[in-house]
Amino acid sequence: MRDPFGRTVDYLRVSVTDRCNYRCSYCMAEDMTFLPRRELLSLEEMQRLCMVFIDEGVRKLRITGGEPLVRRDIMTLFHGLSRRLVDGSLDELTLTTNGALLKRYAAELADCGVRRVNVSLDTLDPERFQALTRLGDIAPVLEGMAAARSAGMQVKVNTVALKGINDGELNRLLGWCGDQGYDLTLIESMPMGEIGQLRDDHFMRLDQARAILEEHWTLEDSNHQTGGPSRYADVRELGNRVGFITPYSHNFCESCNRVRLTCTGTLYLCLGQDDAVDLRAPLREGGSDEMLRTAILDAITRKPKGHDFDETRLADGAQVIRFMSHTGG
Ligand code: SAM
Ligand code: SF4
Repeated sequence: MRDPFGRTVDYLRVSVTDRCNYRCSYCMAEDMTFLPRRELLSLEEMQRLCMVFIDEGVRKLRITGGEPLVRRDIMTLFHGLSRRLVDGSLDELTLTTNGALLKRYAAELADCGVRRVNVSLDTLDPERFQALTRLGDIAPVLEGMAAARSAGMQVKVNTVALKGINDGELNRLLGWCGDQGYDLTLIESMPMGEIGQLRDDHFMRLDQARAILEEHWTLEDSNHQTGGPSRYADVRELGNRVGFITPYSHNFCESCNRVRLTCTGTLYLCLGQDDAVDLRAPLREGGSDEMLRTAILDAITRKPKGHDFDETRLADGAQVIRFMSHTGG
């Protein structure tokens, strides 16, 4: 699939639920209202759409959420999709998770061909972890990461850099990741969803975060690519990598290869824009694969050139109305 700007779209992220067992303060409001269950696609509907995307050239699929591992029977989706890894029509099946339930599923995920997992962890301090996630206990998350590593998966830690919250422990976090054999990716917080507090209090540019890291570690820019928006550096002393996802500081849209399917079957063409196409209606009206294919290809022709997140508008509240947990981070 090729968009109007000549970019090949071969990466699909699927949010399998908007629900979560945490309420991270930058992601959700404390009193989140979740979607009624009937709004959500069934796992069979999700799998059917994924198969059409794969037939149209998607080579990489990431399962996300909300928290994907809280969705009941989620492993049936992984088992279904793993068939496409086996027949070679899919290169990679991955997962983004908060890690709380990862220990339970790590071995089965590895059996399904999941080779890499991203686990979100913004702090190593148990009390801060609990405060940030509002509901979380750090111990099972660390155990989940270790279980994933033991099962042979590569673990990448995702950390949202938050001024006044975790900026003082970024060095420790990178050192810890190095010791554990994990890579680390730092993310700038993005203006998604109305979270009931001003975001710019804690917004931190990643060039500041990088400067903090460089006081302790030698970062050597790397050409490493995962097909995502991250720019990587090798950490000489630790032997791992640190990535930077900087939607404000740098525009990463020129090489965007992805689209996002929400848990309600809406296809978003850009994380930071509202251009979207509903795939649930044709699915539920008994549309054939051919009709779904046409709807998807038509959507791709509407993929915008890029997002327009704007630092100066952070204080006005959220720019993009939907939550990251709905679209899938
Ligand atoms: N629950 C899973 C998790 O936390 O990894 C998957 C979904 S979560 C929405 C995916 C990623 O988005 C996480 O790494 C999270 O830190 C990040 N995220 C959530 N809200 C964000 C925001 N407003 N700005 C930047 N990153 C955000
Ligand atoms: Fe849940 Fe992930 Fe959002 Fe945290 S970042 S509230 S774990 S969906």
